[in-house]
Amino acid sequence: MTQQNKTSQNWPSWLPLRGNLRELSPYGAPQLPADAVMNTNENPYAPSPALAQAIAAKIALVARNLNRYPDRDAVALRSKLADFVNELSTTTMKSENIWVANGSNEIIQSLFLAFGGGSAIGFTPSYSMHPLIARVCQVAWTNGSRRPDYSLDVDSAIAQIQSSKPSLTFITTPNNPTGSAITLAEIEKLAINTPGLLVVDEAYAEFSDETSAITLIEKYPHIVVIRTMSKAFAFAGARVGYLVAHPSVIDAMFLVRLPYHLSSLTQAAGEVAIDFRAELLGTVAQLRTSRIQMVQELEDLGLTVLPSSANFLLFTGFEQSAADLWQALLDRGVLIRDVGLLGHLRVTIGSEAENKRFIDSLSQCLGVEI
Ligand SMILES: *Cc1c(COP(=O)(O)O)cnc(C)c1O
Repeated sequence: MTQQNKTSQNWPSWLPLRGNLRELSPYGAPQLPADAVMNTNENPYAPSPALAQAIAAKIALVARNLNRYPDRDAVALRSKLADFVNELSTTTMKSENIWVANGSNEIIQSLFLAFGGGSAIGFTPSYSMHPLIARVCQVAWTNGSRRPDYSLDVDSAIAQIQSSKPSLTFITTPNNPTGSAITLAEIEKLAINTPGLLVVDEAYAEFSDETSAITLIEKYPHIVVIRTMSKAFAFAGARVGYLVAHPSVIDAMFLVRLPYHLSSLTQAAGEVAIDFRAELLGTVAQLRTSRIQMVQELEDLGLTVLPSSANFLLFTGFEQSAADLWQALLDRGVLIRDVGLLGHLRVTIGSEAENKRFIDSLSQCLGVEI
């Protein structure tokens, strides 16, 4: 929290901070103690003791080699990720099609470093880190627009892309913070009409019924798909994100990555997690069922919920300000997210107990009997 409200006047004049960083605030989803933590789209279900044990055993082996640098190219982990992707999407990706880093945020940064010579565009509201990382990397960013209901108008997006001629176009599907997904046909239409790279951020793909854009890469080599183990995969603490793309894109990642960027410990934990994918992804069906139930409960409270294909819901229709309702929920032990959209709040689908706690607290805050 301490860093959160740092504004330009806090910077001492002797500090040679780059001018374009002076008025920025650090990424700051509040990390506050709460009984129900439903603000950062994590999977609420912790790894099993068996998985924790397997990770510990593998780490114990790796620890005996910590005097040595890790495999710079993370080949074992990238091969496992390729197999995993192929299993999910019936593709034929190899390790040369995969890049892996400390969370997909590092992947996004590497994309800007490698391909940010021109400008970049995304369609707001969307993932706030895309423009923020662009700025830190000194890449010119264009805030493209969506429909008033926040859905993506693909024809309008294409017109905006063609007028700004970006080298990187970001599409998040399902979109964060709105939850809506676009279809594979729409992604293909975008790909046909997009210069440079079309970056599809699929952080929430496992929660959606849409086919992954990974299936289009063979036909459209300028499609780059970002995935993460932080959301559906229930592995946010380990920091593993990956990218699936044409091998030339991966070759460019080698140019901008820091040497030995992914520690032996992370690589080992990631490999074990993929072996346990059935367990880790096993909670996705439960979360999808809970999502359907929570939409109903929010609507029963008189609220409006945006259609979601992800593990969170954006809702509106309450009378207080978003900041006041957010605080009132926190006072009742429930931490959700004020994403800065007027009259809207975002809640992550939690465990069944957390969901109940949220709905009960919310009905109190709204003064509605349930
Ligand atoms: C959460 C999120 C990510 C980042 O996740 P990492 O933990 O860095 O892998 C990327 N994109 C979107 C849209 C997200 O919501």
